[in-house]
Amino acid sequence: MGTGQNCRMVVPARPPVRVLSFHGAARTVTGSRFLIETPEARVLVDCGLFQGLAELRRRNWKPFPVEPSDLTAVLLTHAHVDHSGWIPRLAAEGFGGPVHATHNTADLCGIVLPDSGRLHEEEATYAGRHGYSRHTPPLPLYTEDQARASLALFEAHDWDTQVEVAIGVWALFRPAGHILGAAQILVETDEGPSVLFSGDLGRPNHPVLREPAAPASADVYVVESTYGDRLHDDARTLERFASAIAATAARGGVVVIPAFAVDRTEVLLFHLRELMRDGAVPEIPVVVDSPMALSALSLYRHAIATDAAECRPGLHVDGDPFDPGTLHEAHDVAASKRVNEMSGPLVVISASGMATGGRVLHHLSRRLGDSRNTVLLVGYQAAGTRGRRLLEGERMLKMLGRYVPVRAEIVDVPGFSVHADADDLVAWLARAGTPPRIVYVVHGEPAASEALRARIESELGWAAVVPGPGERVLLP
Ligand SMILES: [Zn+2]
Repeated sequence: MGTGQNCRMVVPARPPVRVLSFHGAARTVTGSRFLIETPEARVLVDCGLFQGLAELRRRNWKPFPVEPSDLTAVLLTHAHVDHSGWIPRLAAEGFGGPVHATHNTADLCGIVLPDSGRLHEEEATYAGRHGYSRHTPPLPLYTEDQARASLALFEAHDWDTQVEVAIGVWALFRPAGHILGAAQILVETDEGPSVLFSGDLGRPNHPVLREPAAPASADVYVVESTYGDRLHDDARTLERFASAIAATAARGGVVVIPAFAVDRTEVLLFHLRELMRDGAVPEIPVVVDSPMALSALSLYRHAIATDAAECRPGLHVDGDPFDPGTLHEAHDVAASKRVNEMSGPLVVISASGMATGGRVLHHLSRRLGDSRNTVLLVGYQAAGTRGRRLLEGERMLKMLGRYVPVRAEIVDVPGFSVHADADDLVAWLARAGTPPRIVYVVHGEPAASEALRARIESELGWAAVVPGPGERVLLP
């Protein structure tokens, strides 16, 4: 977007010292990109998309601060696109690999990156039709084909095994309990400093994944702070979820749940099965209508069936933990259309999670106008999305080119987060054997990062800093 090679932020030639710099997810929650430079290597930890407001998304078009071909390797914590979604662009700009990740992260990227490329292509086409792109003709950030090509750069690794990722630089992946494959990454340098990246940390009570492994000892911690100033209300979450579904079923209605395709769908299905067994929710049909969610679901099933180290043990002894016995999987378009003919009581889980696109729009446009139905919002709804408008009580919602009256009940159940809350983060840090010399607090809105920084200082007595975007610090 008007930025060329001449605008590349100036980073000096490889430094004679070891430097850590923050090129994304610094005082914001998206665009995770952290660079470690040594005299011999440049290693990037995460390569995420900026998402949300236009000002942030524009950063996706800026050239990377160092020549992509000069990067030695990328280490990837997990498959969410705010951590992985810029890899295809980095590859298109000359990065030749490798991308180191866990097996399940590599497999999930095989699902989410091509989908991301397809969405960028659709966006560019739409922008072209409506004439608001700065490119003529409008260009996608990258294409589905470019995303598929970048998958060849991945090298998958086992948990807790040291991998030499550059001369004198070693990486170790430990479970982060956030989504399948999600890792904390310990980066160690020969006779030099070590840095632990938390990645996104999960919750100790994830129904499928084990709690995050304790933080390894390291000189420097880089820790996320998405919910650094908030606590989740666990007790009321399941109660609200169950009672909304039971009430809708009692009046013969349909529950539509816009859900993030990876992990959220699994967590919802798991709880639905338990709630139906306990009698808290009647045994009504449950449809999952999202090709990406169903692909991810099969990876979760495989991980459980093979007793993957990151999963809670014994989940497979009692049948499919994601099938309440009434599960329908809508794999193709014909099956998706048949859902329209189904009458309540019924639960439909479909992507996208904030109703910004995807098949859930068809279900919403069909079901919103009926007061017997319910829309359950189970995740964060960003400003400007249809999910947010529903949350704020909008009575007419535009989708697929027409306005639909909102007569269905709208229920917000925000507690199904896959992120540790403030107490979880502090408790996780407190499990460290040896305190780090310094903690850099990243991946949070400024208030959340600052709140966590203050708690680390006051409750743990450690030095903690919220780095700014583009900031460079010497490693001790
Ligand atoms: Zn994540």
